[in-house]
Amino acid sequence: MRLFNVVVLGAGGVGKSALTVRFVRDVFVENYDPTIEEEYRRTITVDGQLDSLEVLDTAGAEQFTSLNEVYIKSGRGFVLVFSLTQEATLQEVDNLRKQILRIKGGDTTAPIVVVGTKLDLVNEREVQRSTIESLSSRWEIPFYETSAKRNWHVTEVFEDLLRQMRVKFPAD
Ligand code: GDP
Ligand code: MG
Repeated sequence: MRLFNVVVLGAGGVGKSALTVRFVRDVFVENYDPTIEEEYRRTITVDGQLDSLEVLDTAGAEQFTSLNEVYIKSGRGFVLVFSLTQEATLQEVDNLRKQILRIKGGDTTAPIVVVGTKLDLVNEREVQRSTIESLSSRWEIPFYETSAKRNWHVTEVFEDLLRQMRVKFPAD
């Protein structure tokens, strides 16, 4: 079993904590303290192989790029989160993506998954699937639409990222 660390990044209020806690504890937390940064661990079997993920749920100071830089340097895989109910939050995903490319080196892509949250809030949806599809193919990063509340497609996000990390970081 190997240990991979993953950093969850995105604008405030998009659902980073809800997504992380759903994955590691399998519960939905309605009002998670937006200032709490927490690191969680869980094991997961993907393609018959058990591994451990250490997931850092970042909080608060994302607007300070210097702190993002610390997170990005320390992370092996990244979950870039935006809310399907708030189109403006896609901008932060693009900023983070560019920052990761710059810090990790543009030649080799870092393991990244883009996640649109709050899929259950159909009436509040602002981001069309076609929009994310075209960004995702331009960026060459897989994307998932999820709901932490309903537990839709949450595990798939981390499975995809683990597969990418295994390829990128073969046995060390
Ligand atoms: P963070 O600041 O990115 O960590 O965002 P939170 O995880 O604290 O979530 C912000 C708000 O969105 C909270 O009120 C959550 O209950 C709500 N939320 C998060 N994920 C979902 C979801 O999948 N569905 C719904 N309906 N609400 C969500
Ligand atoms: Mg949070």
